[in-house]
Amino acid sequence: MKINSITLENYRNIKELSVDFDDVNIIWGENAQGKTNLLEAIYLFSGAKSFRGAKDKELVKFDCDYAKMKLDFFANGREQTAEISIKDRKTVTLNGIKKRSSTELGDEIKTIIFSPDHLNMIKEGPNERRKFIDGALCQIKSNYRTLLKNYSRTLVQRNSLLRNAESVDEVAPMLEVWDVNLANLGAKIIYQRIMYLKAIKPYLKSIFEGISGGKEDIELVYIGADTYTDDVNDIEQRLYNKIKSHRKIDVLNHTTTKGPHRDDIEIMINGRSVKSFGSQGQQRSSVLALKLAEASLLREMTGENPIALLDDVMSELDEKRQDYILNHIKDLQIFITCCDKETVLRLKKGKTFHIANGALS
Ligand code: ATP
Ligand code: MG
Repeated sequence: MKINSITLENYRNIKELSVDFDDVNIIWGENAQGKTNLLEAIYLFSGAKSFRGAKDKELVKFDCDYAKMKLDFFANGREQTAEISIKDRKTVTLNGIKKRSSTELGDEIKTIIFSPDHLNMIKEGPNERRKFIDGALCQIKSNYRTLLKNYSRTLVQRNSLLRNAESVDEVAPMLEVWDVNLANLGAKIIYQRIMYLKAIKPYLKSIFEGISGGKEDIELVYIGADTYTDDVNDIEQRLYNKIKSHRKIDVLNHTTTKGPHRDDIEIMINGRSVKSFGSQGQQRSSVLALKLAEASLLREMTGENPIALLDDVMSELDEKRQDYILNHIKDLQIFITCCDKETVLRLKKGKTFHIANGALS
């Protein structure tokens, strides 16, 4: 897919803006001028909420009572137009037809987003990494969200049993029911995650090789309660054994200590953990490569190229790595924000926009 143009009115600090885009687009300017605001406006059309967690009202320019946004794009074989307006409430139309919510735009407009917050995927605990893989799976597997929901419901029930239990013997028959269920649902989640990592790996490796100039190799490893194979029945059996063997500990802790809700993904460069040993640039590069690989896989599964929105990705990256991102990523329309004029000069083909006080030039 490709975004042809966007028109904004009273969106955050942008009073009026109407602009045509190219395949690679750099939006540059000083701090607090509206770079992230513009990216956020594009992102909203992919049906998601603001990646900064903003409420609709906060998107309207201070002292104004409405905001309007219009996106012209090519997707699923045709030219299309989506419009969002926020007044007392939000209204959304696609090709002139009113939609119930912006979520429905997500079927036509797909994006992947890198924002500096995503570095938490490396810097923070396993929760952020599980969020990445679960989010990516929800975009490509229609039943995965339901699977997650059912698993977490079962987990809540098992935990509430554990909270009130005095000893394992007292609750063993009931635990048996939850353990069987949890292992069954948990194994399906683990299986999907392992398959996802398998599928994303070739893309990730090739992108990371490009970013690092062939000097570094990236690896992803699923870290679970056991060493899982890619046979879902085998995973279920192993997970069941693990959960069962931890009943005593679980009763003591009043919580379920084994299962996909505790699993992690280890990201390694040249065989060493990026979290523990990676430099700033390596950490940034690995998150970026993961995001771009997610886009490639999304294209493989859906046949459509998502839009890549890269907010403040360039800082901490050296000239070669910046050159790769600007000039060597194929088949993706890219929007990049940066503060640095040097970065802009490295772009070989594409459009650059300077933004100051919400106005583009
Ligand atoms: P940085 O380089 O620091 O990331 P940026 O160019 O990405 O800067 P933005 O996050 O786009 O900056 O924000 C630009 C300005 O928009 C900020 O000064 C912010 O206060 C302002 N702003 C945010 N919401 C609104 C709003 N609803 N109305 C008017 N201005 C707003
Ligand atoms: Mg910003």
